[in-house]
Amino acid sequence: MSKFDGALSERLYERSMEQGYDEEVVADGLGWYAIFRDDMAILNQTDHGFVYANQFNTVEALEEAWRSICAKLNSTCNDCGVELPEYGMSLCDNCTDE
Ligand SMILES: [Zn+2]
Repeated sequence: MSKFDGALSERLYERSMEQGYDEEVVADGLGWYAIFRDDMAILNQTDHGFVYANQFNTVEALEEAWRSICAKLNSTCNDCGVELPEYGMSLCDNCTDE
């Protein structure tokens, strides 16, 4: 059984090994994400080793999706930068005021 969900994910995964990618984010339990701006695609490898690719029609859609992934995987407070206790938070307790 292939660990790739299709030809695109396999191609991008190989490219990430050879030429790299534009940016990456990694989070324990959530896997690895890499953005390929030339291909307008985001690659995700889960902690179980499965590889998925998402391709987008517009740069806006690609960047929006990437921002939301980064925000979801962000593990530091957007305001003061302290380490947050769980993923999906954007501000620590001290900076969450209202
Ligand atoms: Zn904070």
